[in-house]
Amino acid sequence: MASPAVDGSEALERIAREIRSCTRCPLHQQRTQAVPGEGPADAPLLFVGEGPGAEEDVQGRPFVGAAGRLLDRLLGSIRIPRERVFITNTVRCRPPGNREPHPDEVAACLPYLVRQMSVLHPRVVCLLGATATRALLGSDQKLNQVRGRALREAGRWWFATYHPAAALRSASLANALQEDFRRLRRLVDVEWGTEDPARWKPGALHKIFAHPQPTEPVLLAEAGTLRISWEVRGVHPVFRTESALAELLRRFVLRQRPAEPGVGLEVLKLETTDGSGRPVPPENPDCAHLHAEVRLVGGA
Ligand code: SF4
Repeated sequence: MASPAVDGSEALERIAREIRSCTRCPLHQQRTQAVPGEGPADAPLLFVGEGPGAEEDVQGRPFVGAAGRLLDRLLGSIRIPRERVFITNTVRCRPPGNREPHPDEVAACLPYLVRQMSVLHPRVVCLLGATATRALLGSDQKLNQVRGRALREAGRWWFATYHPAAALRSASLANALQEDFRRLRRLVDVEWGTEDPARWKPGALHKIFAHPQPTEPVLLAEAGTLRISWEVRGVHPVFRTESALAELLRRFVLRQRPAEPGVGLEVLKLETTDGSGRPVPPENPDCAHLHAEVRLVGGA
């Protein structure tokens, strides 16, 4: 019987063949070849850029030009081998003159990405640039407002940052991109550690939470709702979004309980405040506490 990774590789190759012969949008007319993307079928980390450039169009591979070389250096700087990640783009055919893809071209190509993700099941998706961010997180999302922070949606982590091509044109963007990759590494560390309890270091929560003691007991023994207040002053900046804090809270509480298949934690309400109890958004440097109303769901 074929292993899941082999099955996944075959499924990805089937999608890649469709992409190479695709004529769904006008971008196929001027391409040398389409660029489906590359990486292992069990890659836990997916990168999504904008579209192929001149080098990619010739070689049929993603991120092999100057921006790709910068991506390789960024990955090296956070000790993640390129061979372990899947790299692709929002559109798979080169827009003429490297212009931004039109919304109808993005819409035509997006189903391929959805299908690739349904094979890959990436635990972390890194969106490189505004086009990928709008395509995957919603057309109203502004890159500057979401970049550098983990968002938890649809059962996986999303992390947006600048496109390496933009960083090649601006030293300040290059510095910001490097800092974002350090944050991405932090997110990946927590995610990989959390998913595999054998690799979970006892001190890992202390790395996330400077003061991990909740003021209410978190060992939820029965159904019902409970309010939890949490000192979150030391939460790493990458997790300072409502959706990320809610996910960390879920994991922390469930780890206090004996493992029970199908039991989850629903976060009914979540509010963050400063040291004086005034509501502030999680990304505010003065944010000090998280107050949540939670209940156990599922199980026998
Ligand atoms: S960009 Fe995507 S949808 Fe358009 S022709 Fe290429 S593969 Fe097809």
